[in-house]
Amino acid sequence: MRLAVFDDYRIGVVRDEAVHEVTAALPERWRNTPYAMNELIRNFEAWRSRIEETANIVSGIPIGQLRLRPPVPAPQQILAAPANYRAHQAEMAKRVGEPLVGRPAARDLGFFLKAPGSLAGASDTILLPDRPGREFHHESELAFVIGREARAVKQSQAFDYIFGYTCLIDVTLRITSEFKEERVMRKSFETFTPLGPVLVTADEIADPNTLEVRLWVNDELRQHANTRDMIVAIPELMETATHTLTLKPGDVYATGTPEGVGEIKPGDRVRIAIEHVGEMSLPVARRDW
Ligand code: MN
Repeated sequence: MRLAVFDDYRIGVVRDEAVHEVTAALPERWRNTPYAMNELIRNFEAWRSRIEETANIVSGIPIGQLRLRPPVPAPQQILAAPANYRAHQAEMAKRVGEPLVGRPAARDLGFFLKAPGSLAGASDTILLPDRPGREFHHESELAFVIGREARAVKQSQAFDYIFGYTCLIDVTLRITSEFKEERVMRKSFETFTPLGPVLVTADEIADPNTLEVRLWVNDELRQHANTRDMIVAIPELMETATHTLTLKPGDVYATGTPEGVGEIKPGDRVRIAIEHVGEMSLPVARRDW
């Protein structure tokens, strides 16, 4: 099933580019709230047939006519893997003029957080603050979404806790020799976490470890990799995170970017596509506040 959140936090099932609204299948207290998707995920097995029946009855609206919100608008946490592809690790080492050997990667570093307030949907605009002399970069990433409370999960059980997958752009303000802000802040400016366009349930993704990931800026292909090249694969990300804290339904985990990161500027358009998961394209503009 492909799930979308749109307009005033309505929820829809997406079939052939048409959105069939199923908000009415949810308990009244959750309708039109950013938290509805967390509850839908938490109760999915119980609500699934009602959701499908509702989607069968209502007519579809072309997806292009709706304002797409992040498919999980209010995760309790967004975790993210740092340096999880070797070629990206190498390009970052080169950028700061440090040797690659001995440089920590995802297995040593664990995870960092992005503020949930930095989320944007597929219909939104990436807004860059005015920081003369600084570079803002795109990072294309597969994200997985937690399906049920996950604590101390073993790698062999990891996929039992994943509800689904979506595309995530981890927009980042790069450090310089002069400026070295906290990573969490550099990646948490408002709109710096585009998520979507939809949430694809795990049963539709045969193997999340062999997905092609691509990102273009203005039709120039900047990133192209396969999720099989992750240094730390999804089961180990899950194991490490859930031995740190309990993950909740709707929590988002960005699995890290491959090589080819680069600058985005106001006026650009950024497009991410992940095989079987989806594709979205967002404009970039200067923030006016
Ligand atoms: Mn990243």
